[in-house]
Amino acid sequence: MDLEQKAIVRLREASDMSLKFYKLPLVITTSGGKDSSVCVHLAERAGIPFEVMHSHTTADAPETVYFIRQDLRRLEDKGIKCFVNMPVYKGVRTSMWNLIPQKLIPPTRLVRYCCSVLKERGGAGRFITTGVRWAESTKRKNTRGIYETMPSDPTKKIILNNDNDDRRRLFETCTIKAKMVCNPIIEWTDADVWDYIDAEKIPVNPLYGCGFSRVGCIGCPMAGTAGRQREFARYPKYQEMYIRAFDRMLEERQRRGKMQGSWRAGTTGRDVFHLWMEDGVLPGQEVLDGFEEI
Ligand code: SF4
Repeated sequence: MDLEQKAIVRLREASDMSLKFYKLPLVITTSGGKDSSVCVHLAERAGIPFEVMHSHTTADAPETVYFIRQDLRRLEDKGIKCFVNMPVYKGVRTSMWNLIPQKLIPPTRLVRYCCSVLKERGGAGRFITTGVRWAESTKRKNTRGIYETMPSDPTKKIILNNDNDDRRRLFETCTIKAKMVCNPIIEWTDADVWDYIDAEKIPVNPLYGCGFSRVGCIGCPMAGTAGRQREFARYPKYQEMYIRAFDRMLEERQRRGKMQGSWRAGTTGRDVFHLWMEDGVLPGQEVLDGFEEI
């Protein structure tokens, strides 16, 4: 079976489970990236009933926000229900810029609190799909599967990595209506995704045409120093928003008496920004506009 057919079979199976156990259609999540655009297209090809969900991260590039708006409108015109989750933390609407002072540290590769609040909260009690692929990282290869449960206790998570895996344990979880995930294109390589987009003429985020290989949040720690420097060179206002958030984070640390260790008195939001970027700029050192290393 080819990759498209395999993905369609998975989507139909997930749709059947969603309708049977959750009494609601499958939810296709979309981030504005190419992988989720492919998943939406595959769901249309599968001929299943589905809804589309986007989680507004508040740190996406303007082009991504416009692309999502346009794409959801396109789908709604076809009668597909679409919805956008606005991020909430401790019962209150939040954003990347409010979370940083609340969490007292910048988001990092190891502590990605922003993802769990801004991106992963939606879809509770539903059967959802994502565009996660093993090719994205070694960690994903080891921790993600074709089907997954999302229990509150991560040690109880069930992962099925193979189309022939026994589905019994998964069905048992369905009956308690925990959040369930299907990753229909999990084994696709980057080349598979681009070939499919070209062959099917799927509309994708215009940032890919501007040299971006990933279109996550601006400044995402997963993008590495060089990638983030490129992003901040294109979107300098986001850099200023991070620096202001770091300033407010330091004020909050001061207020709570937590200015010890690497958080010395006199540290500024700009110092934190450079430490966070790992760009070698030392605290207090000035970088003249136009002389940044990009
Ligand atoms: S910055 Fe990166 S880690 Fe944080 S929410 Fe965005 S994508 Fe997730």
